[in-house]
Amino acid sequence: MITFCIQQDILFITKVWDEIASSYALQHQCLLKILCVVCGKPKLDLAHYDSVGSGRDSTSINHIGLRAMILCRQHNSLQHEMGLISFCKMYQVKPIKLSKYDVIKLGLMNKKQVEENN
Ligand SMILES: [Zn+2]
Repeated sequence: MITFCIQQDILFITKVWDEIASSYALQHQCLLKILCVVCGKPKLDLAHYDSVGSGRDSTSINHIGLRAMILCRQHNSLQHEMGLISFCKMYQVKPIKLSKYDVIKLGLMNKKQVEENN
């Protein structure tokens, strides 16, 4: 039911979002719909849990298998203040391990890049 709502862009009441924090599958839906996993605000930043390494060209990074989650600007800056581990504990969220499908869907990599990285 919650999955259906996310797919159909149906707005949530806070109680529903409270359930999402404990469900990895639903957090995955938020990731693909680019909704903040904490508050449900549409989009903004993809927070990488695993370091992608500084100085590397972000377009050449293999994102497959990296863990990430979508956070709105407010929660993303809070996450930076608190540190990601404390943040995840406080909100009971778990970064999603990005699959081939996820990275294409999120526009992080194109199909060609995904194939080249296998
Ligand atoms: Zn948020």
